[in-house]
Amino acid sequence: MKQTFVSVVIPIFNEEENIPALWERLAAVLKAAFPDPGRDWEVIFTDDGSRDHSLELLKVIAEGEPRVSVVEFNRNYGQHAAIFGAFGIVSGEVIVTLDADLQNPPEEIPKLVAKIDEGYDVVGGWRQGRMDHDSPFRTLPSKLVNAVTRKTTGVKMHDYGCMLRAYRREIVDAMLQCKERSSFIPALANSFAKRIAEVPVAHAERAAGTSKYGFLRLINLQFDLLTSFSLLPLQMLTLLGVFIALLGFGLFLGLVVYRFVNPAGTVGGVFTLFAILFFFVGCQFIAFGLLGEYIGRIYQEVRDRPRFVVKRIHKQL
Ligand code: UDP
Ligand code: MG
Repeated sequence: MKQTFVSVVIPIFNEEENIPALWERLAAVLKAAFPDPGRDWEVIFTDDGSRDHSLELLKVIAEGEPRVSVVEFNRNYGQHAAIFGAFGIVSGEVIVTLDADLQNPPEEIPKLVAKIDEGYDVVGGWRQGRMDHDSPFRTLPSKLVNAVTRKTTGVKMHDYGCMLRAYRREIVDAMLQCKERSSFIPALANSFAKRIAEVPVAHAERAAGTSKYGFLRLINLQFDLLTSFSLLPLQMLTLLGVFIALLGFGLFLGLVVYRFVNPAGTVGGVFTLFAILFFFVGCQFIAFGLLGEYIGRIYQEVRDRPRFVVKRIHKQL
């Protein structure tokens, strides 16, 4: 039986401490699972503008192994851009993405590929025991991201954040056609897939270095998800507006009735009025903010700047 050609894609940003162990384990897994000496697998690293020695280490690996290529970005464009950069040159029928920090064990790759062979288009890893390893500062926002993503994309997956994933070639090709700047790969892939599966995968602590996602970056990712995959927030705005207007109208009616029932009484409630006013003003600002977020993104899209710049591709001829 002919083996499936598997491409493994790994974004790298300042991961010099992790690269040697990563490559050792990855190569062992791939050589064992796909023993044919032919080109049945390849690994594509994207160096996402690392400022440490990651690029040199990767180049050495590529010099020693013809099945490894390195896409060098001219600066840092972010994890998802890095993955896209590698997607641009993959030649496999199945594409597996993986984080470099060894949080996603490379040993799980054959499991994902087997699932694709069963006929699924996208197979996501579902991290087991994650909450024991990552700090609450990292897991709480992720839980939120997962919940919102499930709602906005309508695809029920337990773990959208896990980058240990496998895609069929058609899905990657479809994603490459998407010209938008902000794309969250797991959600984007699901929007093109018919059959989606999830397999439980082990999850380890980051082997070395620190997470590249601070709080602001996570917020940005959340907005990406919200605005690029649904118009739900805008629809919610309208609903909220209707609700508030009804509330205001009800209050008005109440006051009129009160006047008739009790003509002598005065409504002593300047403060109540302030409370209501602040509530409305708050809602308005939220609404403006959301609108602004969409408009800002439209502006970015229409400029249509390249999402990343590939400086060189390092590969044996
Ligand atoms: N990464 C990248 N560019 C970035 C940030 C991260 O290529 O701007 C890579 C990073 O090297 C790692 C993966 O994306 O391979 C996931 O990053 P990290 O482990 O920091 O994220 P977390 O596990 O905290 O979600
Ligand atoms: Mg990580």
